[in-house]
Amino acid sequence: MPSTRSSSAPKKQQSGTSPFPRLDAERKTQVCIIGAGPAGLTVHQAMAQIGVTSVVIEARSRQYVQNRVRAGLVEPGTVRILDDLGVGQKLLRDAACHKGLLLQLDDTSARVPFGDITGEPVYMYPQQHIVRDLISASDPQRILFDTEAVNVETGSLDAAVTVNHAGRHFRVKCDFIVGADGAHGASRRSLPDERKKSYERDYGIDWLGILAETAPLADELIYSCSARGFALHSMRGESQSRLYLQVPRGSSPSWTDDRIWQELDYRLSPGAARIRRGDITERTAVKLKAFQLENPQYRRLFLIGDAAHTVPPSAAKGLNLAVEDAACLAQALWAWYQDHERGGLDRYASKAAQRAWLAQMFSAEMTRLLHVLPGDTQFDTKTRTARWQRIVDNPIALRDFADHYVGIARR
Ligand SMILES: Cc1cc2nc3c(=O)[nH]c(=O)nc-3n(C[C@H](O)[C@H](O)[C@H](O)COP(=O)(O)OP(=O)(O)OC[C@H]3O[C@@H](n4cnc5c(N)ncnc54)[C@H](O)[C@@H]3O)c2cc1C
Repeated sequence: MPSTRSSSAPKKQQSGTSPFPRLDAERKTQVCIIGAGPAGLTVHQAMAQIGVTSVVIEARSRQYVQNRVRAGLVEPGTVRILDDLGVGQKLLRDAACHKGLLLQLDDTSARVPFGDITGEPVYMYPQQHIVRDLISASDPQRILFDTEAVNVETGSLDAAVTVNHAGRHFRVKCDFIVGADGAHGASRRSLPDERKKSYERDYGIDWLGILAETAPLADELIYSCSARGFALHSMRGESQSRLYLQVPRGSSPSWTDDRIWQELDYRLSPGAARIRRGDITERTAVKLKAFQLENPQYRRLFLIGDAAHTVPPSAAKGLNLAVEDAACLAQALWAWYQDHERGGLDRYASKAAQRAWLAQMFSAEMTRLLHVLPGDTQFDTKTRTARWQRIVDNPIALRDFADHYVGIARR
């Protein structure tokens, strides 16, 4: 997306569009965004930069969304988008910049120097900090927390969202609706049946993620696969570790802290120093599933981020795709409000889907490469080893892996 900071004011600005200090009347805005995750907040920030009025409807509280622990690996393309929007300063100051990772298969490991190969690093910066940065940059009256979108209507000329705040319903009329409400939100549900065509893959396992008060055991991420499955060593700053284990579907609640540490030790230790235990302050369980809508647009409703597609977390693409969708849609909306040029809006669906499929492809590859999946046989173990060896030994395969890992392959 070209920098919106230098954009001139839009020609088609609506007059008299009031903010939302009170919730007791029918309101109007130009763009109504459902969901204050990274996707929705990025569009909101971009709209503010170009003088288009937007409002964000968020079902949860501000405190909840600002503290929700999820992703942490930020691609350089995502950083550039956030920085162009004027919200990259803290990230660039505080994030750890990574130029390599360790790929470990049983007791063999190899470093992938993706920074040298591609000329681009990745950044470790928690998703909830991106959310905080975006919220801090916004007009607080334009994000309605504790307010759930319950109905989405879209015609060919206008659109509206009905919301519920503390049991009171009111309607927000708008030109466009941005469905950024994640995998279980109202916007995906509101699509007519004939527009719900989608593609799915369930890998049948979960990730159990923990945040622990212990210094990381290495400076870089370690992706490890052993006969007992996958483990990932990651970090949040110098004193916290973010660690993940592949676990059987639905089994996360039964894992005691002691069992988690033992298993991390077993799966991560061959190539790394022994893991240091610490208090576990947060646990998350994520199903390894992929979902993609055939078409993330219906009339004046545009779906972005997890609302349009979910990827298994194996390649850390969900957050990055969400911000990328948001930037692509924001650019199309900018062209519409600037010049009534609707080519960008018409092309949004196919551009977003094309990029998301590339992320799905790499995420599927990382899932196969690093996990022992239900039903796997020795054949799968052998092909996994062959694939691992090919990435490590062959410069073309290594380059391809690195391009996908840092996100260059989707540009
Ligand atoms: C539990 C979980 C753990 C994850 N862990 C990782 C990880 O460890 N590593 C990784 O790389 N990726 C992870 N991901 C993926 C990554 O975090 C997502 O891809 C990313 O959050 C997508 O951003 P988004 O803005 O599209 O959606 P979200 O961040 O999900 O935001 C959607 C927002 O919409 C709100 N909402 C939903 N319904 C409504 C409604 N009806 N009305 C109003 N608001 C509504 C929600 O409260 C939420 O704030 C995880 C995802 C999940 C769900």
